[in-house]
Amino acid sequence: MTRTPSIVDRIRSSTSGRIPFSVEFSPPRDADAEARLWRAVREFERLGPAFVSMTYGAGGSTRDRTVRVTGQLAEDTTLLPVAHLTAVGHSIDELRSMCGAYADRGISNILVLRGDPPGDPLGEWVKHPDGVEYAEELVRLVRDMGDFHVGVASFPEGHYRAPDLEHDTKYLVSKLRAGAEYSITQMFFDVEDYLRLRDRVSAFDREQGDKPIIPEIMPITSLRSARRSLELSGSTLPPALEERLTRAAGTGAEENRAAVREIGIEIATEMSERLISEGAPCLHFITLNFARATSEVLANLGMAAPAAV
Ligand SMILES: Cc1cc2nc3c(=O)[nH]c(=O)nc-3n(C[C@H](O)[C@H](O)[C@H](O)COP(=O)(O)OP(=O)(O)OC[C@H]3O[C@@H](n4cnc5c(N)ncnc54)[C@H](O)[C@@H]3O)c2cc1C
Repeated sequence: MTRTPSIVDRIRSSTSGRIPFSVEFSPPRDADAEARLWRAVREFERLGPAFVSMTYGAGGSTRDRTVRVTGQLAEDTTLLPVAHLTAVGHSIDELRSMCGAYADRGISNILVLRGDPPGDPLGEWVKHPDGVEYAEELVRLVRDMGDFHVGVASFPEGHYRAPDLEHDTKYLVSKLRAGAEYSITQMFFDVEDYLRLRDRVSAFDREQGDKPIIPEIMPITSLRSARRSLELSGSTLPPALEERLTRAAGTGAEENRAAVREIGIEIATEMSERLISEGAPCLHFITLNFARATSEVLANLGMAAPAAV
């Protein structure tokens, strides 16, 4: 396998004097979406993220596209890709072969996830008969395969299936002890939730608490789609932010997208400023395969000029 830097090395060796940032892409559904993704990729090459991650469709539905596009990121761009890998619907043999496919393309950074049930993400989780039950087992499996650097998911508000925050912390620490080098959080909108997660992990296990917890930020550009993402992720919007966004959306049949977008960028900027002052290791942005909203937040932070797309 071609050795590429680990995410932890990459974010800790940032020499810009500023906090590093990273972005999340999703596999495109069709040719138009693919063209849009590549426009965003070229813009981000200019902006210099520490790494870029590529999601894995629910239930493994985008498996081939995820592998192909992540491979192209590794081979045809200057960006450092992280491939998401979920356990849903896969046997252990299939999971091993996915890792092999990533390794063949020079990808050594994998974000290991359990994934959600296909169809209804909030529905009952059913393990593949020859698969794994929890992400922790997949962390061990990927680590045992060789030279992979593994990250996992963490949840500032607690995962919606965890009985309470104590269990949630315990299971996150188990994934870290199993060999994950860092975690990326679920999106959240109250920075206090992120800070409390960090404190909980450190209190539970000081050594694991030293591993980076990378906050994920979603710049809201549409209230309707933000509500859908919140529903699917189990994250919540604090009432004060909900009110700002609802006021901006207006009372018309169609929300005022421009006004919502402006407030969404403002909120993401305020959150980023607070996260920087609290010593977050990196800012990870959900992009929906557009560079513009993220680049505007970065511009507000004095970290970039806004992108055109
Ligand atoms: C940054 C990020 C990226 C994501 N990317 C994707 C993606 O690309 N594709 C996709 O489909 N989904 C993605 N997801 C969603 C993720 O797959 C779901 O949130 C999923 O429900 C949980 O995955 P996990 O890896 O945290 O699971 P796990 O760590 O296995 O946890 C699942 C549940 O089981 C509990 N648990 C864990 N271990 C144990 C144990 N030993 N005993 C009892 N309970 C336990 C946990 O508390 C939790 O409630 C992403 C989430 C995040 C935060």
